[in-house]
Amino acid sequence: MNLKDRIEKLALVGPTYGKKLEKLNIETIEDLIFHFPFRYDDFSLISPIGRVQAGETVTICGQIQEIVNEYTRGGKKIQKAIVSDSSGSLEIVWFNQPFLVRTFRVGKSYNFSGKVDWFGRQKVFVSPDYELQKSGTSIHTGRLVPVYPETFGVSSKWLRSRIKTALELLGEEIKEFLPLKIIKNENLLPEKEAIFQIHFPDSKVEAEKARERLAFDELFLLQLAALKRKKDWQKKTLGKKFSVDQEKVLDFIAKLPFELTQAQKKVLKEILADLGKTKPMNRLLQGDVGSGKTVVAAAAAYVCFLNGWQTLFMAPTEILANQHYQTLKILLEPLGIPLELITSSKKTKVSTNKTKVSIGTHALLYQKFEQEKIGLVVVDEQHRFGVEQRKLLAKKGGSPHFLTMTATPIPRTIALSLFGDLDLSRLDEMPQGRLRVKTWVVPQEKRQDAYQWIRSQVKDSQKQAFIICPFIEESESLSSVKAAKKEFELLSQVIFPDLKLGLLHGRVKAKEKEQVLGGFRAGKIDILVATPVVEVGIDIPKATIMVIEAADRFGLAQLHQLRGRVGRSQWQSYCFLFTENENPQVLNRLKTMEHTHIGMELAEIDLKLRGPGEIYGTKQHGFPDLRVASFTDLVLIQKTRLAAESVLKQRVFSPKLKTRLQKYKIETVNN
Ligand code: ADP
Ligand code: MG
Repeated sequence: MNLKDRIEKLALVGPTYGKKLEKLNIETIEDLIFHFPFRYDDFSLISPIGRVQAGETVTICGQIQEIVNEYTRGGKKIQKAIVSDSSGSLEIVWFNQPFLVRTFRVGKSYNFSGKVDWFGRQKVFVSPDYELQKSGTSIHTGRLVPVYPETFGVSSKWLRSRIKTALELLGEEIKEFLPLKIIKNENLLPEKEAIFQIHFPDSKVEAEKARERLAFDELFLLQLAALKRKKDWQKKTLGKKFSVDQEKVLDFIAKLPFELTQAQKKVLKEILADLGKTKPMNRLLQGDVGSGKTVVAAAAAYVCFLNGWQTLFMAPTEILANQHYQTLKILLEPLGIPLELITSSKKTKVSTNKTKVSIGTHALLYQKFEQEKIGLVVVDEQHRFGVEQRKLLAKKGGSPHFLTMTATPIPRTIALSLFGDLDLSRLDEMPQGRLRVKTWVVPQEKRQDAYQWIRSQVKDSQKQAFIICPFIEESESLSSVKAAKKEFELLSQVIFPDLKLGLLHGRVKAKEKEQVLGGFRAGKIDILVATPVVEVGIDIPKATIMVIEAADRFGLAQLHQLRGRVGRSQWQSYCFLFTENENPQVLNRLKTMEHTHIGMELAEIDLKLRGPGEIYGTKQHGFPDLRVASFTDLVLIQKTRLAAESVLKQRVFSPKLKTRLQKYKIETVNN
């Protein structure tokens, strides 16, 4: 047996538990020993029975004198036992565990750990954990006892005993993968010791040291993977070096109906510098919703066109592809650039012998194009997408410039640890004259007032509103579509029967989608009820009201992106965060939205409160939740970065390290 074996091979696991463990992402024995506790019960105080105090959390070691089932007046079963040692005896009670009477053997000695309480006038041990007394091997009592993330039918107690068995059998197989020098310099525990100690620590200090080591590993590996990607990317060369005609670019900028912000100018400069190199660009452009990323990308596409090469402009949804097509047409067609739109439901193809800008969804990539003529790929609003598309293109032989754009605020620390392979540009300034979106958290009792107010805005001032329905899913499930439909019926028939409402969700057919959006854009629809499909990138200037149902279920950064759908015009815009949740902490978190209007700040706050997996609401973004380390730990991130850089300098990695890195393979570009 070895660590890579399926978990079912381990004694007492079998197919039933194997299935359950999948929910915890445990498939191999190795996965099991990397399933770390999130806290410990401190049962390390061992006391003679005669000395235990009520209120104390202790472990006692004693002989069972008797154990019986008794019925309460309510008809429930309780289990009562008397346990004694040479110093005294104590009563123990459990509730509704009648099998215990058969579990314990009268006359045998056991450990019991838990809290002692008053029961009337008597000291009683209530529902303690227990295990048969064997010298030196206790895992559930009499020590720091690990508590694990659990799932239905898999308790911490069960996990503890299986992990113990796995470590006893295979713990010696854990071979160090970090270079000795790093371990010494950083004063880290050896990995094997860290893994033993994180599960069954000798003391709190040891547990903490184990955590330090494993946190180090986590961030180190992430960064090494990113740096390796970067190195591999840098080995590529572009088919042709672009010349950047500054004058023509300046002319393009001068003809825009607005002045570029300082941030846009700075970022454009960074991008143009990249385009002039033989190495393909690999840049992430981050800018809040409405900060004006599109025009920057358009300028880059123009340069690509001037060099006689094609640009691919990819959007995550058809709606957005359509919208980019319209926008880029206005910007680029006057310059004589042919544009085409390619989505799965629509194709406006331009003959292939022309240099063009092709806009579309990922359908774009499966087109036949002259691979060697693609000079620039712009990927909007999906980092994952970027990685996969780079891989696909690289396979086909081309390595064009890549510009990935996102409105998702990525705190510096996350960017450093996850996107170390990308160069980063930030649009940290909004175009002039934008009004802040006035934002309120609306409790249940004020809902009707809010509806009234919206009605008056629509009727008296011809304003439009979004109402976003409550669900956060990776892909739109049927039940969420149902929820949106139901809400739509309620809103259109009961609350706003006098207004025109439209419905938009992920399962509406493309053609209908366009009709609805077209109607909304043209003002034929007053209120658009939608699922968060509208989240990224839609631009409808006359919509000034954003209502978000069950706002507490969204991350702050995500709420901010939804809010960014309004406030795109000279009119004052409003955002209402509806919630039925009355938890003060939840309300406080939401209230941050009332006074904070910078996406990055909101992301930082959420990062501290909830961790990255939660911030963005979907796993799609590709932000992993760390097990031990924290993305807010700047010091450790910097330390591990340096360590990763030093390791990268060595040309060959040890086999152990290679195996470790393999976990991150999905992210790598080249292999
Ligand atoms: P995002 O960064 O969210 O993709 P867009 O590129 O869609 O933002 O730009 C939002 C709006 O702002 C568009 O209508 C665009 O024409 C406009 N815009 C972009 N840059 C400026 C600027 N410097 N001044 C004024 N308006 C601008
Ligand atoms: Mg955009």
